[in-house]
Amino acid sequence: MTSMDLLNKMKQAVRGGILTREPLAGHTTWRIGGPADFYVSPKDLEDLRSVIDFSRQEGLRCFVIGRGSNLLVSDEGFRGIVLDLSEAFRHTAASGLRVTAGSGLLLGDLVDFCIRKRLKGIEKLAGIPGCVGGAIRMNAGAFGVEVADRLEWVRLVDFSGTLLQIHREQILMKYRFTDLPADAVIIEAEFRMERGDAGELARTREETLKKRREKQPLSLPSAGSVFKRPAGDYAGRLIEETGLKGLRIGDAMISKKHANFIVNCGFATAVDVLRLVEEVQERVHRMFQVDLELEIQLLGFDPS
Ligand SMILES: Cc1cc2nc3c(=O)[nH]c(=O)nc-3n(C[C@H](O)[C@H](O)[C@H](O)COP(=O)(O)OP(=O)(O)OC[C@H]3O[C@@H](n4cnc5c(N)ncnc54)[C@H](O)[C@@H]3O)c2cc1C
Repeated sequence: MTSMDLLNKMKQAVRGGILTREPLAGHTTWRIGGPADFYVSPKDLEDLRSVIDFSRQEGLRCFVIGRGSNLLVSDEGFRGIVLDLSEAFRHTAASGLRVTAGSGLLLGDLVDFCIRKRLKGIEKLAGIPGCVGGAIRMNAGAFGVEVADRLEWVRLVDFSGTLLQIHREQILMKYRFTDLPADAVIIEAEFRMERGDAGELARTREETLKKRREKQPLSLPSAGSVFKRPAGDYAGRLIEETGLKGLRIGDAMISKKHANFIVNCGFATAVDVLRLVEEVQERVHRMFQVDLELEIQLLGFDPS
């Protein structure tokens, strides 16, 4: 079947928007990444299940993208369907201390919603530029608070199209890790908050954003921390000690402001970033015998 035939067939099965050969650089905060064969924005849950059914029938791989803020996409892009839930899955609802949110909602919008409702618990996550689904998958956290602390349950669809609800106690959540099934699409989640004071919560959010502006190179595209924190230390400190701050390969540079950030100074490629990653890992290992593990997720690097 030609790709045009496949597209026509997909259009019959799916109601949401379908883009072909869509450059993923436009969907990642690093502004790096080649094209996805198909970039699909399902209209609702039924439509999402139709895309999943279609991908299974046609033997196409699926990948769900959030805001692409923890993602390095290869320069060749992704052969398959990238699912984007940011159009349809962005609802919020509060009932007492419980808040339900769609996975495509920006985490920052959820923080604002909770503050408006005088609900305390996630205001220190302000400034993390992901969406709710990506924040759950990564167990995003900052300033001593993690998504895991507030999560009650997640609802997801697996790649057989089955809808599941999984409670927090059944999910292993550690530092930047969740053991949810790799092929599952999170569609919504519930969080449990505490009662708070709107003024105080807003102040905490502003202080948090200020600290981020002071410490992080926010004027250039990045994916936040590239490496996980090694036990008992900070990746940024180790990298700084190796003297690699400011090292540049192509247009990718180890930030002079925060050594665990790699910034895109213009037209960096995924290969530039990976070469810097290797250089950092090698030097840190040589100097400290510490193996830095990637926090960022990779897409499109496997040979198939
Ligand atoms: C400037 C900057 C600062 C940052 N600061 C922090 C920080 O303080 N703390 C922190 O933890 N992170 C931080 N990050 C990293 C990033 O924002 C978080 O990891 C965030 O949670 C990723 O969310 P996302 O929606 O962008 O996910 P993406 O990067 O799009 O995807 C990440 C992973 O989540 C999966 N995923 C996304 N949505 C879904 C879904 N609906 N269902 C299933 N899987 C899904 C993807 O498949 C992928 O595996 C920062 C990034 C930047 C650019």
